[in-house]
Amino acid sequence: MAKLRFQALTELMNRVPQKVEFPSIKATDYFGKLVFNKATMAKYLSGDAYKAVKVAMEKGDAIDRKVADSVANGMKAWAMENGATHYTHWFQPLTEGTAEKHDGFIDYGDSTEEMIEAFSGKLLAQQEPDASSFPNGGIRQTFEARGYTAWDVSSPAFIMGTTLCVPTVFISYTGEALDYKTPFLKALAAVDKAATGVAQYFDKDVKKVHTNLGWEQEYFLIDRSLFQARPDLMLTGRTLMGHSSSKDQQLDDHYFGSIPERVSQFMIELEIESHLHGIPVKTRHNEVAPNQFELAPIYGEANLANDQNQLVMDMMKRIARRHQFEVLLHEKPFAGINGSGKHNNWSLQTDTGVILLAPGKNPKGNLQFLTFVVNAVAAVYKNQDLLRASILNASNSHRLGANEAPPAILSVFTGSQIADTLDNLAESITDQKMSPDEKTALKLGIGRIPEILLDNTDRNRTSPFAFTGNRFEFRAVGSSANCAAPLTALSAAMAVQLEEFKVEVDALIEGGVKKDEAIFQIIKKTILASNPVRFNGDGYSEAWRIEAEKRGLTNIQCVPESISKYLAPAAKKVLVESGIMSERELEARVEVEMEKYVKKIQIEARVLGDLAINHIVPTAIAYQTSLIQNVQGLRDIFSEKEFNELAGPRKEVIVTISNHVSAIKSKVAAMVEARKVCNKIEHEDKKAYAYDKDVRPFLDDIRYHIDKLELIVDNEMWPLPKYRELLFAR
Ligand code: ADP
Ligand code: MG
Repeated sequence: MAKLRFQALTELMNRVPQKVEFPSIKATDYFGKLVFNKATMAKYLSGDAYKAVKVAMEKGDAIDRKVADSVANGMKAWAMENGATHYTHWFQPLTEGTAEKHDGFIDYGDSTEEMIEAFSGKLLAQQEPDASSFPNGGIRQTFEARGYTAWDVSSPAFIMGTTLCVPTVFISYTGEALDYKTPFLKALAAVDKAATGVAQYFDKDVKKVHTNLGWEQEYFLIDRSLFQARPDLMLTGRTLMGHSSSKDQQLDDHYFGSIPERVSQFMIELEIESHLHGIPVKTRHNEVAPNQFELAPIYGEANLANDQNQLVMDMMKRIARRHQFEVLLHEKPFAGINGSGKHNNWSLQTDTGVILLAPGKNPKGNLQFLTFVVNAVAAVYKNQDLLRASILNASNSHRLGANEAPPAILSVFTGSQIADTLDNLAESITDQKMSPDEKTALKLGIGRIPEILLDNTDRNRTSPFAFTGNRFEFRAVGSSANCAAPLTALSAAMAVQLEEFKVEVDALIEGGVKKDEAIFQIIKKTILASNPVRFNGDGYSEAWRIEAEKRGLTNIQCVPESISKYLAPAAKKVLVESGIMSERELEARVEVEMEKYVKKIQIEARVLGDLAINHIVPTAIAYQTSLIQNVQGLRDIFSEKEFNELAGPRKEVIVTISNHVSAIKSKVAAMVEARKVCNKIEHEDKKAYAYDKDVRPFLDDIRYHIDKLELIVDNEMWPLPKYRELLFAR
């Protein structure tokens, strides 16, 4: 019965680390070799084509067909020299992961007897995948199943294996976005416009503000054979059962510990592949939980950085298999130990090179810095529900609020220096004109920030949204997420906030108030209005939950309810009124999210039901049978009195097993019934609520009894690899 488990353990013991060869000891020798970046373009494109692409990359201008033909030719030549035989539009549908459909370069020439290698501007710029089977939330009727993918010039093409990949957006025939990238690009453009307007108060030369993203990808690595002996991991990405290991992370001996050799070789290969693909990964280390690790790049422009994260997630899975590992990107693969997040380090940066969330060196710089910090805090305050909706889903809901991750309350950590500054500002500026003395004091006060901040020891790991010296870190994002979702919400919120700020400041200026003072006054107003969201204490504590409620902050744990906030007036204002999404697109997105939630719970329920009835119950009964035989044997050889003494405890175990088995059977039956009822519900959102309320609780309920049985049943008979094996076997 437990054959697969022990076979897996034997295989694991015989593993040898797969040594990886470096192409060169200097990463700069091969960095970006598989990317059609500017340097490569300069070599492979005509002067005119190169110029046109550069302008399109920087300004977002369209590329005309003739130029596209010439770019396609150059790209094809480069790709073929680097071993590519196929090309694909590479896009990010509303599923997990990316999509690609490969076409060969091969085509008929002038006649069907002549074959040529072809790749035209048309094929580069646009394709029509029949994508009716991608999630679309009702936008795509089957009779109009065409969708378009269109080249995102701002993210360079790259080669993966033998395929040239062209990053694209994915939209429906009727023009609605069906992917993560399209609204993300619009949100980035919106925040660019709004932030540029505000940054120009301080520097007239600013023409553009771009968004930076530095993602920190956490993940687990599990031996491949053990993984395959766990149907729950294979089908749902997390363990639906498993008693906690006697030792897991209590000793804090994994974090930053030495990296096991087999893992190390995996990481090296992943880094080499990343560097070949122009992804500036830099940091790797063990995370808190056993077999948990992290990978982080140097931050970069957000759209590209997100594409790179998507690519890395894909590469991780493939490279892990070469080292006989499986990567788990699920937010909570194991109950009771830390889950995985993906901190999104976020900042805005001007084309003059100034990071707007970094304290400047002079009072002017500080006023600009404070302006952006205060507006970011306000954007989070006003959009708690939208931000939560962008990160809370079936898998991340297991992690948020569990005691190692931020709760579902969106607060902002600023650190004490900035908190003091904001408090002082809010108190000190009167609504009347400031005296020159007051102004100087204020400027000096602010002027002291940089030195203090540079010593960035003030860290709080319990906050979902934390200031960390020159950026905010959105920590509540889950490890399996497409960062475009949270960053679309955040950018849209920031854009609207900055616009409102500017309208108010401009109104004061028009009324004759001097610029600096107008800014001070609106900063003060904004600080006061968003005070409740600032919290520097322990975000994991129960006291904070109570305090947050008093402050009127929302705390939504029900996933469907959280998703539904995408349609609340506050979210619509930010997403729809600003033109980032149409009403229809937003509704479709909500439907997709609700549907995903239902399907995830449905699959988990099915897998658990199957494992419980077909793996666990028979094992428990087999063990119970052996106990019964043992008791019968005792009766044969002992006197009545001796027997009664000896058999008592054994009989108790037999009864306990019976009780757990009965509970499992009846609960699985009840869960199946609950599912049937839910499945009849027509509206996707109502179905999601029903699954949440009536099906999801069974998962923990049934698991409880299985985990109890795991403690009782003979280890030799237990069919599924145990937590200690998944987490510690190397
Ligand atoms: P920690 O684990 O302490 O948060 P890491 O070094 O693991 O720090 O990750 C920090 C991430 O933040 C890196 O990707 C880094 O490049 C990025 N980062 C640093 N400064 C900025 C910034 N101004 N804007 C955006 N990301 C940044
Ligand atoms: Mg971090």
